[in-house]
Amino acid sequence: MKNFGIAVHGGAGTLSATEMTPENEGNYRKALETATRAGYEVLINGGTSLDAVEAAVIELENDPLFNAGRGAVFTNAGIHEMDACIMEGKTLTAGAVAGIKNVKNPVSLARHVMENSEFVLLSGDGAEEFARKLNLPFETDEYFYTQLRRDQWLAVKDTDEVLLDHKEIKKFGTVGAVALDQYGNLAASTSTGGMTNKRYGRIGDCPIIGSGTYANNATCAISCTGHGEFFMRAVVAHDISCLMEYKGLSLKEACRILVHDKLIKLGGEGGLIAIDYNGNIELPFNSEGMYRGWIKNDEELQTGIY
Ligand code: ASP
Repeated sequence: MKNFGIAVHGGAGTLSATEMTPENEGNYRKALETATRAGYEVLINGGTSLDAVEAAVIELENDPLFNAGRGAVFTNAGIHEMDACIMEGKTLTAGAVAGIKNVKNPVSLARHVMENSEFVLLSGDGAEEFARKLNLPFETDEYFYTQLRRDQWLAVKDTDEVLLDHKEIKKFGTVGAVALDQYGNLAASTSTGGMTNKRYGRIGDCPIIGSGTYANNATCAISCTGHGEFFMRAVVAHDISCLMEYKGLSLKEACRILVHDKLIKLGGEGGLIAIDYNGNIELPFNSEGMYRGWIKNDEELQTGIY
C-alpha cells in the first residue's frame, strides 16, 4: 500500500505553558485527535484527500475552542466574518470564500465554489447567496458567539489594535488540514475567523490561493496559520511548493526557509502544516506553539502544542 497521511492544525500560538492547565491541554489535544481521526478514517477507508481534509476541518469548525466556524473571533464591528479555502493537488482546482457570515461550515461552501461554480473565490453577500442556493446550513449569531472571543474583542474595541490572538492573549485558533491519500493525491484546506478587531471587510491569507493554502501533486500540500498579512506578502504556501518544484529542495528545507528565515525577516509570526507527495510531514512554527495533530499509514496518532 502506498504512503498516506494527514496533519491538522488548530492555530499557531497557544496558551503560554504556565497558563495551560492540564484540563485545557487535555481539551485541546482531544479536539485535535478527533479532527485528525475524522480525516484519517476517510483515508484508511480508501477515500480521497479532499474528503479527508474537509472532514477534519468540519470537526474543528464545529468546535468552539478554535477560531473558525463556531468560536470565530469578532471584527471591529462586533460580528464574525469568516474565510475558508480548499485545494486539490491533482487538478490544481481550488475554491475559497471570504468575509462570509452565518454559514455553519465555511469549508464546505469553499468546496462548492470549487466544484459547482466556474469561480475560485467568492466573497460576502454573493458567497452567502450561493450557499443559500445550495441549501447549506446557516446558524444564528448566537451559535458563533463565545465569551472568550467576546472578551478578547471588548479589550481592544474602539482602538485601532488588531489582535493576533496568540500574541496578546496567547491563544489562537485558525484551523487547517493537509492530506495525502492512497492514490497519491494531495489536498489542503484552511478556515478562520481571522484576527480579533480586524477591520470589517479585511481578508486574510487563508482564502488566498498560494498564501495560506496550496496543494500540488508534484510537490506538497500546505495550510498556514499566523499573521495573515505577512503570509500574503511572502506567498508562503506557493513559495514552498516552488522551492521543491524548481529548486529540488526537500519539504523540510523548503519549510525551514519560509518559516524560520523569510517570515522572520519580514516580522511574520506563525506556522504551517505540510505533507509532500511521499507522505513526509512537516509542522514548523516560529510562534510559541502551534496546535497540531498528525498520523501516517498505520502509525500512532500524535498531537502537539509546544
Ligand atoms: N492567518 C489568519 C489570518 O490572518 C489568522 C490565523 O492564522 O489565525 O486571518
